This record gives sequence, structure tokens and C-alpha cells, in this order.
Amino acid sequence: MDKIKFATVWLAGCSGCHMSFLDLDEFLFDIAEAVDMVYSPVASDIKDYPDNVDVCLVEGAIANEENLKLLLEVRRKTKFLISFGDCAVTANVPAMRNMLNGSDPVLKRCYLELSDHGGQIPKDPEIVPPLLEKVQPIHHVVEVDLFLPGCPPSAQRIKNAIAPLLKGEKPIMEGRDMIKFG
Ligand code: SF4
Repeated sequence: MDKIKFATVWLAGCSGCHMSFLDLDEFLFDIAEAVDMVYSPVASDIKDYPDNVDVCLVEGAIANEENLKLLLEVRRKTKFLISFGDCAVTANVPAMRNMLNGSDPVLKRCYLELSDHGGQIPKDPEIVPPLLEKVQPIHHVVEVDLFLPGCPPSAQRIKNAIAPLLKGEKPIMEGRDMIKFG
């Protein structure tokens, strides 16, 4: 049987959800047996998101143009996309800047007003992706197949969600243990 092509993606998040994924400990060996990890910030140095990915965990909100471009590519190339953690599901912490009415006030506050001297706003789209005006959860932009909330989701919750997928079954996301935020 072909192995499941598995990926994880890191958008605008603190990487805490990926750290929780690494807390799976010995279950990581079961995952390694069952999948080909084809793209992930924690497992390899593959630069391009491949075609025909079976399952992808997407951590983080959409906060900049790079996030948006990658998410659209991920959706196009992925069969089962999981919104992974509260930043992906609700936009959570990255969306706190939405209260400031756009990206300009945030950039001015960070890089000019709080600068000791000679502050300047970084502007190089090749190096610093431009911020979007509003931070959004990923399901506002693409279709999501499963929501896996938590900040971060506990390792047990991640295991409960992934284990059925490895057997070709859809996980049951019910009850406090599986769908509580925070
Ligand atoms: S949901 Fe929490 S742990 Fe995960 S990326 Fe966001 S802030 Fe970090």
C-alpha cells in the first residue's frame, strides 16, 4: 500500500502547534511508518509544496501575502486540509492587530514610533512579505476539511485526530477533549 503523503505548514503562528505535534513522542514513530513526510518546517528542507498531498496540517492565520499565496497552493494540491490550532481556526493572537484598523498603524507603531532612532518601515517584498490589511482564519479563504482547535491543540488531541486518518477514517471531533478552544 502506498504511504500517505503528509505535510505540515506554518503560516502566521508562533510554531507552538508544531511543538505540540512534536510532543506526540512515540506516536511519531507510528506516523513515520505510515506516511511520507513530503513538506514540513520540522522534518525537512523541501522548499516547494508538492502535488498530490493526502493530508496537511496548517498552523497559523493568514497575515501576509506569502501566507495567502502558500495557503492557496496548499489547498490546490491537498486532498484533506486540517485547520490546525486556534490561529488557523479563528486567527486568534495574530488577529489582535485587526483592532488597529489595517497594517499601516501597526507598522508605524512598531518601526517608527517605538524606534530609538532612525526607524524605517521594511519594504522589500522579496524578503519581507507585505502585510495584509486584515488577518483572517484560513477557512475564510479556502475550504477546510477538519478543524482542530487549541492553543496549541494537545498532543493527545492531535493523536486522536491523526490516528484515524492513518487508517483512512475520518476522526470524530466531538466533546471537550477534541473541540475546546484555548
Ligand atoms: S494556536 Fe496558539 S500555539 Fe498555535 S500558533 Fe497560534 S498562538 Fe501558537
